[in-house]
Amino acid sequence: MSRPIRADIHLAAFGHNYRVAREHAPKSRVLAVVKANAYGHGLARVAKALPEADGFATLELDGAVRLRDSGFAREILLLEGFFEASELSQLAASRLATSVHCEEQLRMLEVSPPPAPIDCYLKINTGMNRLGFAPEVAKAALERLQATRAAKSITLMTHFATADGPEGVHEAMNRFEAATRGISLPRSLANSAAILAHPRTHAETVRQGISLYGATPFADRSAQELGLLPAMTLRSRLIAVQDIGPGEHVGYGGTFFAPHAMRIGVVACGYADGYPRHAPNGTPVLVEGVRTVTAGRVSMDMITVDLTPVPGARLGSEVVLWGEGLPIDDVAATAGTVGYELMCALAPRVPVVEIGV
Ligand SMILES: *Cc1c(COP(=O)(O)O)cnc(C)c1O
Repeated sequence: MSRPIRADIHLAAFGHNYRVAREHAPKSRVLAVVKANAYGHGLARVAKALPEADGFATLELDGAVRLRDSGFAREILLLEGFFEASELSQLAASRLATSVHCEEQLRMLEVSPPPAPIDCYLKINTGMNRLGFAPEVAKAALERLQATRAAKSITLMTHFATADGPEGVHEAMNRFEAATRGISLPRSLANSAAILAHPRTHAETVRQGISLYGATPFADRSAQELGLLPAMTLRSRLIAVQDIGPGEHVGYGGTFFAPHAMRIGVVACGYADGYPRHAPNGTPVLVEGVRTVTAGRVSMDMITVDLTPVPGARLGSEVVLWGEGLPIDDVAATAGTVGYELMCALAPRVPVVEIGV
């Protein structure tokens, strides 16, 4: 038998979670965001599971081209756009839509226009302060983009910094509306959090990322409350059991002390599989369907868990690290991170099994 870790990818979850976004934003096109290898779930796999998608958004050019070559005919948007003028002919050839977020990109479009016009998303910075034109120069940028004749269509775009939190989108919406007043062009503003919590942001096109994969964008609303299904279940098994006496410690650095005699299960899953090394003692884990916790530091290939609540556990017992029965958001919260990071970190060495083919 091979090392027992595997990631189950539940194909039906993608369609289900996509429909959740559709129900929230029934008048908008829903782009499925598949950057970072579809948040660790496999770009080709997610694309195949979502033939009904209005479009996809990603940011790796090679993945976008492969998606187009696989036969997907609707929109594919590059969220960071192009990085060099030499990419423009590929964008035109593969009919990829591009974000245009900075002066340098505008200049490339002016100086080295693509062989055929491309769909453009003009990105306005409404407070995230990463990508996008300042609101004051948005109109001038739009006029320049229109003058290049490189744009087949133009959508006005922004990305919210705080759609998932108590600050919401109020300030960003004010800035966006002020910057775009009087311009009648389609708009794309909403990420998962805004799709679920801020209907006024929906406009023509929304961009669904994290919720497509069945995790919550919010700290205080669970994926289950939102009606989402987890798409990834990371599973493994116990490969050893240790009976230890009181005062014994477990793992590198001896960070866990047994307060009494106890059984420790050793799981074939470590940070080289994508499990977060910073997950502290007490991070939730399922053994034989029973919720227990990690005990001891995460190492490269193994984690150690408290078997006290699972007296029947033995070598070969089933373990769920996250997914079905254990929300990835619970693991992430204990480990001081977000579901996004855990999914994206799934390591190439973990075999993937597609469920529901
Ligand atoms: C990643 C990304 C999204 C998706 O965000 P989620 O929070 O995962 O829904 C939307 N828009 C842009 C510009 C992005 O980079």
